Amino acid sequence: QIIALRKWKSQKSKYFCIRMNFETEISRRRTFGIISHPDAGKTTLTEKLLLFGGAIQEAGAVKSNKIKKTATSDFMEIERQRGISVATSVLAFHYKDKKINILDTPGHKDFAEDTFRTLTAVDSVIVVIDVAKGVEEQTEKLVEVCRMRNIPIIVFINKLDREGKDAFDLLDEVEQKLGFKVVPLSFPIGMGYDFQGIYNLWEKRLRLFNEGNKTQISDSIDFDNINDASLSDHIGEQAAGQLREDIELVTEVYPSFDPSAYLNGEQQPVFFGSALNNFGVQELLDAFIEIAPSPLAKKSEERLVNPDEKNFSGFVFKIHANMDPKHRDRLAFVKIVSGTFLRNTPYLHVRLDKKLKFSSPNAFFADRKEVVSTSFPGDIVGLHDTGNFKIGDTLTSGEELQFKGIPSFSPEHFRYINNADPMKAKQLAKGIDQLMDEGVAQLFTLDLNGRKVIGTVGALQFEVIQYRLEHEYGAKCSYENLNVHKACWIETPETNHPEYIDFARVKSKFLAKDKQGQQVFLADSAFSLQMTKEKYPALEFHATSEF
Ligand code: GDP
Repeated sequence: QIIALRKWKSQKSKYFCIRMNFETEISRRRTFGIISHPDAGKTTLTEKLLLFGGAIQEAGAVKSNKIKKTATSDFMEIERQRGISVATSVLAFHYKDKKINILDTPGHKDFAEDTFRTLTAVDSVIVVIDVAKGVEEQTEKLVEVCRMRNIPIIVFINKLDREGKDAFDLLDEVEQKLGFKVVPLSFPIGMGYDFQGIYNLWEKRLRLFNEGNKTQISDSIDFDNINDASLSDHIGEQAAGQLREDIELVTEVYPSFDPSAYLNGEQQPVFFGSALNNFGVQELLDAFIEIAPSPLAKKSEERLVNPDEKNFSGFVFKIHANMDPKHRDRLAFVKIVSGTFLRNTPYLHVRLDKKLKFSSPNAFFADRKEVVSTSFPGDIVGLHDTGNFKIGDTLTSGEELQFKGIPSFSPEHFRYINNADPMKAKQLAKGIDQLMDEGVAQLFTLDLNGRKVIGTVGALQFEVIQYRLEHEYGAKCSYENLNVHKACWIETPETNHPEYIDFARVKSKFLAKDKQGQQVFLADSAFSLQMTKEKYPALEFHATSEF
């Protein structure tokens, strides 16, 4: 009996050790995305964060995944750039005791849908804003998506080494255009030519800018009280006076930082700096690891799934095709929501009701990817896939869960897709099917005649699709213009509702099904959409597939 008791005790303590370890692993993870309008400095900031984490040794190691505008007809260039974006899809590194996963989001607006989907896998976001340009269009769009999910957001105002907008004006602009409640946690001393550094309100420290030596970060000076007379020894009489005024105004005008308001998306802390000069980045990172959330619970159709649950669950938010035509497999990126993900362990692919196991799941670091045996909530694993996965799929230890929140948005461009080589109809169908699963574009099938319509966010994707169909599937397609303004997902009280019956009769030419079989209205103009909405008040027309 004593032996049995001892055994039980030892097993129990082992269990507690594992449990403790599991909980520590979750709480030390920070999975986030950086979003910005192109050229605001996202790539540069990412690189500097990696430098701090010791993940890379020198600047210039992170390649931008920007698809350049000039590349529209240069397919090899597109492919090359796509390749770069695989490598930088997820960048993991360690900083202090934290494991940080940065999920890369393409800045190019033609790839906005990719970015929206990636945002479903982050637990928080850093928004980069160019001090001279202020809040730009793409930032507004991306922030809107973050706000739909109340994602905690930190703002980094970049390029302080250049002349830009007045800091207070810019903070106003951020509040108005992005609907934020900002709380400056650092404040600049001068700007452009006169830029002297920042005062860190979060840690009450002064950090001076040393433009001459961009690779070295100057030491910070603890400065609890900016009214101390010695401030002018560091930054001069005039700047000291200005800083005191500014900080007084900051404390009067803005609320003090409230961590829970930040976590609920009700307050957005702001940092200033210059990513290129490595300036203000450490302040940002140090505050980030303190305040940003560890992996959050996620809603599924069935229930809320908590990260510390024993059983594994995760979902696919991105699929990347292999660029090597000899290896047709793809990489599915899975965000782990709960439990531990183990190599060579069978997991349930819920949509297919099929058990799958993975012999070489990949983890991604700044400069390499490697096979991992165990991954924790917040981590991203890359799974080799021969066509089982599509975006939004859920994997679990066995429970039938379906995670929510990977909506499709209305594409901006629409064209009929036709088969240009009758001998290759099968290949074309397979190619289209797989490219849509990857989320390259959306496919709609017209109710009236079964014709296929491709919808994309940018014009660039049509060329990418044509090129990939030919090179990866041996199929040829041609396009035909089609006049569609927006795709709207239709919600009706019931399918035999008189308004729906009338609508379906009058607009039969414009009705289609998306890939999931959901009913969609392809409105030919903003005007006709408006008229339709007015004529059929019982129906709802949604701009996204999840409502
Ligand atoms: P992204 O498109 O948002 O990824 O922007 P990049 O990181 O590629 O930066 C765009 C341009 O701005 C590049 O030429 C950078 O060198 C430059 N840049 C980035 N940060 C700063 C900064 O702090 N100061 C200045 N002067 N230029 C910067």
